[in-house]
Amino acid sequence: MSTLTLLGTGCPSPSSLRFGPSTLFTHKESNYLFDCGSGVTQRLNAAGVKSSDIEILFVTHLHSDHVMDIYQLYISGWHQGRDKKFRIVGPRGTKEFFQNMLKAFKNELQGRVEWEQRPNKDGLEYAITEINSDYAYKNLDLEIIPFEVDHYPVEPAYGYQIKILDTVKEKKVVISGDTRKNENLINHAMDADALVHEVFINLEFDEKRMSKKTISNVRDYHTSPKEIGEIAKAANVKKLILTHFVPPIFDEAFLTKEIGESYKGNVIIGEDLLTIEI
Ligand SMILES: [Zn+2]
Repeated sequence: MSTLTLLGTGCPSPSSLRFGPSTLFTHKESNYLFDCGSGVTQRLNAAGVKSSDIEILFVTHLHSDHVMDIYQLYISGWHQGRDKKFRIVGPRGTKEFFQNMLKAFKNELQGRVEWEQRPNKDGLEYAITEINSDYAYKNLDLEIIPFEVDHYPVEPAYGYQIKILDTVKEKKVVISGDTRKNENLINHAMDADALVHEVFINLEFDEKRMSKKTISNVRDYHTSPKEIGEIAKAANVKKLILTHFVPPIFDEAFLTKEIGESYKGNVIIGEDLLTIEI
């Protein structure tokens, strides 16, 4: 059986209900994490999964809300007994980003290693794969393929397509990452069993912290509810799961109505710690 667990369904805006973006995909007790937002290890704990039991962290893009807790995942996994390499797959720049994180924590990590004398030193080793055009993760059960999305000026930014191979009929799950409406995502999500998609609902103008350009630019590199309905319809997805809500609190009736103008299928308004069977 495969499940998706929405660990964090929020955005950079702090919310006690919606932590930073992160989605867990579990297949036959193997755990794959997509993005690593603020609070992810606490949510993993609540979901009954140890940081040490994550096979691979897949990163969609290097916006802070998606990568904030990578160091916390790295350290808590080591504390929980990880004795193999910490593995990350992400866009170009992921290696430099993680190594800069390690540089910032160099003294504290050295101090911990020397003082704590843990036996599983191998758990601090790491392997980072930066995505290129032929990258694909494969094992006997699964195939995980990144595809480019459009989150310009953040480049490159990826979504991920997960194919579950060891079922009578192959299943497909797609994670959008952050993106505008775009054809590449629709093509990769075609006939998917589940599409996990980001959403931008609205931002109220506040002249103390925004210019008019702020709202139009933030809206411009995300996807509106109306567009999500169009995407889900065009891709003929069986289930649409919404996450990364901007803002974290919004009018659900408006959201459902806008999507429903095009898409008549199953819409799940995500919540932190919601688990969905695939
Ligand atoms: Zn982003």
